[in-house]
Amino acid sequence: MTRAVFRSSFLIGGIALLLAAILFFSLQYRQTLDETYLALQQEAVYAEHGLLIGGQEYLESLGEINRVTWITRDGDVLFDSQYALPIANQMHCPEVTAAVSSGEGQGIRRSESSGTETMYYALVCDDGTILRLSRPLDAFRQALQTVSPILWVLLLVLLIAALLSFRTARRIVKPINELDLDDLSASPYPELSPLVSRIHEQKETILEQRTEQERLRREFSANVSHELKTPLTSISGFAELMSTDGFPQEKVKEFSQDIYRESQRMITLVDDIIRLSRLDEGGVQLRSEPVDLFSLAADTLDSLRSVAEKQNITLELSGGSAEIFGVWQLLSEAVYNLCDNAIKYNKPGGTVRVSVSEDEKSCILRVEDTGIGIPAEHQGRVFERFYRVDKSHSKAIGGTGLGLSIVKHVAQYHRAGLELESIPGEGTAISMIFPKA
Ligand code: ADP
Repeated sequence: MTRAVFRSSFLIGGIALLLAAILFFSLQYRQTLDETYLALQQEAVYAEHGLLIGGQEYLESLGEINRVTWITRDGDVLFDSQYALPIANQMHCPEVTAAVSSGEGQGIRRSESSGTETMYYALVCDDGTILRLSRPLDAFRQALQTVSPILWVLLLVLLIAALLSFRTARRIVKPINELDLDDLSASPYPELSPLVSRIHEQKETILEQRTEQERLRREFSANVSHELKTPLTSISGFAELMSTDGFPQEKVKEFSQDIYRESQRMITLVDDIIRLSRLDEGGVQLRSEPVDLFSLAADTLDSLRSVAEKQNITLELSGGSAEIFGVWQLLSEAVYNLCDNAIKYNKPGGTVRVSVSEDEKSCILRVEDTGIGIPAEHQGRVFERFYRVDKSHSKAIGGTGLGLSIVKHVAQYHRAGLELESIPGEGTAISMIFPKA
């Protein structure tokens, strides 16, 4: 930041000084031109008088500074102070043409004879001849010479400005670097106060979130241990009983089935925990691809058909193809959990209706059942881990309490919204709303 502040303040100073130097220089250049013109004009008037009194001899006596050319009205050269005659007719020269038509003429051009940039001034004398004075134009060098002391001063000013802007930049940035984000009143500049309080708020939020995450993590571990311990205790109890002497042979099958059921519950639970922690890590290494929600729902219902038939539940699918971009495996797990719940918490002879639709903004998958419903006070919590409305009922039908949290995570992963509508005793409908963009 120091460097950025320094760079911009130095740049502004540098540009200002450069502009000042250009301005000085162009003013000086203009002034040198004007001065040269005035000098030529003045000297031409003197030369005219001298010519009238002293004739060509006077012209010959003139100094070396200016070149003097005496020309007839037709452009023929009568005398030139620098070149011996004959010299070509000068009628083509703009200053001579201008003098013939208006009495005097001037111009700046490259001299044909010397090849240098030259200023010319031509004046018509009383006898009709033309006197032309010219001087090599060295205005650029002269202006540079005049301005060069100022340029050195400007350069010095630039160096001092660089030093000062570096110190200023450091002085501005230092308090920002030493800012105490815990002390809201310590903001060094009033303009920074909103930023400091925003950072402070964010810090507080992060701390709160971290505490909340830690609490959830501990609660989750406690729940997992508890959920695993229950079937393990049963399995251990059944096994212990079966190993006692005199255990009735006819009970072996029943106890083995109990052990099998409890182990299956554990496997389901461990599977759900693995799925959830994979989603928690956020870095699910699964490939996103176009997924048609309608065919995914059809596959899911097919896999649940035999379970539904056992409970005499009708499965219905309506709507049409709706394609989203997502992870097929995760979406399939979520839809499976929704349909599985709709069967599990249904009433014998009930119906599960899955519909897939789309509008211009979203694709919607809705799973609706005619089951026991969820009381209003539980509706906000059923997506929490291990939350069940009726714990013993859920356990009795093989629930882990993790199905809807998996649905919630999958929805979040796909930036989808979840909507739950339920009337106890009448049924439940859960919709996943996938944004099209
Ligand atoms: P579980 O494995 O217990 O079904 P879930 O996370 O899938 O766990 O669901 C949490 C709780 O929400 C369930 O225990 C049940 O009480 C309630 N629930 C979920 N789906 C339905 C539904 N379709 N109808 C009625 N209650 C439901």
